[in-house]
Amino acid sequence: MSRDVLDRRACDRARIARDARLDGRFFTGVLTTRIYCRPTCPVKPAKSGNVVFFPTAAAAERAGFRPCLRCRPEAAPGTPAWRGAAASVSRALRLIEAGFLDDGRRVDELADTLGMTARHLRRLFLRHAGASPTAVATTRRVQRAKTLLDETALPMSAVAFAAGFTSIRRFNAAFRAVYRRPPSAVRRRRARRQSAADTVAARQMRRAPLSMWSATTAAPASSVQASMKAAP
Ligand SMILES: [Zn+2]
Repeated sequence: MSRDVLDRRACDRARIARDARLDGRFFTGVLTTRIYCRPTCPVKPAKSGNVVFFPTAAAAERAGFRPCLRCRPEAAPGTPAWRGAAASVSRALRLIEAGFLDDGRRVDELADTLGMTARHLRRLFLRHAGASPTAVATTRRVQRAKTLLDETALPMSAVAFAAGFTSIRRFNAAFRAVYRRPPSAVRRRRARRQSAADTVAARQMRRAPLSMWSATTAAPASSVQASMKAAP
């Protein structure tokens, strides 16, 4: 599936050399750990016989790999723009990146915008992106949420909606499916890692514009707690 867009030997050289020029162009799945990484991952590179390559993060996740917590694939630059990808797929990826499939919008509407049938669009995606448009959009939402969990102290409800999820329940389910742990576990990790920087962060949050807090008002902490507990 990805064989026609990724050159295995070039990818292997790039990830062993930690070539930053190819960051975002492909992802490496390590078969022994079932974790996928950016080419620039600081962890000691796995043996060449133990890795597979994917054109997108969504493709790696579809194959059962979870994102590395060290190199943070969600922070890889830009939309993948591999050679050989059809122009319509690139355009669709840009639209998905801009949130076209968020807030409950459907693949049919995306296909209409691109002037093709949903069936044809799905076929092109499987060939060039290694995953369906829906999977790419879900991965992107989870990535946005992960970034917000890492970099802000926003409440869970605000993270979910800002990332493009239509409900906390969907956010929880999608996040767990990708990271094999609830979003709160990632935040605890952050709390431990950044305990020294907490005072600084708190000071900055107090200076944050009012709009950042509007979601807090819309969903009080108690209802967030309740929905979090209700989720599987
Ligand atoms: Zn990594």
